[in-house]
Amino acid sequence: MSIGRVRPAITGLPAYHPGKAAEQAEAEHGISGAVKLASNENPYEPIPQVVEAMQEAAKGVNRYADHRATGLREAIGDWIGVDERQVSVGCGSVGLLQQLFLTYVDAGDEVVSPWRSFEAYPIFAQLMGATFVEVPLVDHRFDLEAAAAAVIPATKLVLLATPNNPTGTAVSTAEIHEFVSGLPSDVIVVVDEAYREFLDPGFGDPVRDLVPQFANLVVTRTLSKAYGLAGVRTGYLVAHPDVVTEVDKTLVPFAVNAVAQAGALAAVRNASAYKPAIDRLLAERNRVVSALTDAGWKLPDSQANFVYLDLGERTLEVCVELERRGVVTRPFAGEGLRVTIGTPEENAKFLGAMAEIGGDA
Ligand SMILES: *Cc1c(COP(=O)(O)O)cnc(C)c1O
Repeated sequence: MSIGRVRPAITGLPAYHPGKAAEQAEAEHGISGAVKLASNENPYEPIPQVVEAMQEAAKGVNRYADHRATGLREAIGDWIGVDERQVSVGCGSVGLLQQLFLTYVDAGDEVVSPWRSFEAYPIFAQLMGATFVEVPLVDHRFDLEAAAAAVIPATKLVLLATPNNPTGTAVSTAEIHEFVSGLPSDVIVVVDEAYREFLDPGFGDPVRDLVPQFANLVVTRTLSKAYGLAGVRTGYLVAHPDVVTEVDKTLVPFAVNAVAQAGALAAVRNASAYKPAIDRLLAERNRVVSALTDAGWKLPDSQANFVYLDLGERTLEVCVELERRGVVTRPFAGEGLRVTIGTPEENAKFLGAMAEIGGDA
């Protein structure tokens, strides 16, 4: 039933389904001790400085927070070596992505992205009444030549998630440089680096290599993944100050709440304290990749905190078999399975289940 005159763009959208919780899988399969490797979360708790900062901030939440999160913008600017006017913060980097759509995309416009990629992109395009143009991956990697060819005068936005979700593959800043050089300068190119901290530095740093040269290039990053703050929703973007000015106009008032700002600020100020946990996750990723490769699986080169199994028609079947064994993953029906890197114990549970399920690679 439709109450009121819901926009067709909304009635056409499916309801949002978050990654399945471990508890739900336990109830469905009558098991216990399930682990969730479905949402690319960091399995480790935030560092004590972050928890303390959020506890302190909680005492003041009778007041509105600083809408612009000025202190956090300054700290991020200092941290990554850019002017504070080039930084915006939002309600997760997904919030910033939505703001970019609100800023640049009208009904009838086009948005181009390699595909498969991050699920939020086509949803935001549909919300705006825009056309989402999918450029097929080749061997699970971006085909930037094809993406360039897909850009037409109606194209307002190009989205490049690198490392890509769900395949984990990355493109270098040299490749992006060549790509952006060939585009009209009024097309906004978003480099979504939600998984930057897991990327081999050899791929380059778009903030250093691209933002200074291309006023139309925007980098989005988040504190949700490597910095373990998924639950408080803080992301940031780096771009030309004029882009920041326009994007800022679309921020829901006080969307980056006081507790989130305090936690994010403490995480940024103590960023080096996260290195051991990030290194541990990288070592675990290598271990999982080696074990699966030894078992005969061919995996795309993951530069993120997850691996992708190209299971095609067997995807849902393997997903259910893993769930029966207490491992919750993220299936893309008919395509493949994305499995987050967790703690050594969680990964061992996943590898053990895969060994039981077996299968041709
Ligand atoms: C997880 C993810 C994000 C963002 O997460 P936030 O929690 O909103 O910061 C953005 N892009 C991609 C590709 C992701 O996988």
